[in-house]
Amino acid sequence: MARYTDGQCRICRREGMKLFLKGERCHTEKCAFARRGYAPGQHGQRRSKPTPYSVQLREKQKVRRMYGMLEKQFHLFFERAERMKGVTGDNLLRLLETRLDNLCYRAGFAVNRNDARQLVRHGHVNVNGKRVSIPSYIVKAGDVVEVRPKSTGIKRVAEASAVAERSRTVRWLDVDRSKLKATVTSLPEHDDLSDLLPAAEVEGRAIRQELIVELYSK
Ligand code: SF4
Repeated sequence: MARYTDGQCRICRREGMKLFLKGERCHTEKCAFARRGYAPGQHGQRRSKPTPYSVQLREKQKVRRMYGMLEKQFHLFFERAERMKGVTGDNLLRLLETRLDNLCYRAGFAVNRNDARQLVRHGHVNVNGKRVSIPSYIVKAGDVVEVRPKSTGIKRVAEASAVAERSRTVRWLDVDRSKLKATVTSLPEHDDLSDLLPAAEVEGRAIRQELIVELYSK
């Protein structure tokens, strides 16, 4: 499977905001964006006037990279969101948030989404008592997601659990950290979707999903 292998911090610097792609390091002064808050590369500090298209493109790239997805899969998610009832932008974010790998990250089973994806891929996660190894699996309200009993001793899982308090928890998840178990109490609503990054560290409304819809609707 194709995947992005370049530095994660370059993504934050390119998108001009902290996307919390690494884990605990993102909350320390070692954060690359905190130290060099401009785009990477030779021309990173150049200023140019953004066009409406570039604003839409950057918003889409930001969200796509935040969830660690490649263009093709992200576009498929958008098409699926378009076919659903309701507001397409909210549907898209709801689909992204209810991916199994994202849920494992939100529940604190992994320090970042990349780790969460590997946790799922390697078969360490159960959904409603059955092993699911597909990171893009979409959970439903009422689903119970847990780290398999045999896998609770994995070092990375224990480390993630220890630092999970970092405002990653979301209202629509009921997490029992001692049992590494999370219940989806409801699907995320519009208000939940407008606050996906730690509010204390990111100013303003972090994601403008309407720009993604505008870009893909051209
Ligand atoms: Fe790197 Fe900071 Fe982005 Fe975390 S938030 S991935 S440390 S630049």
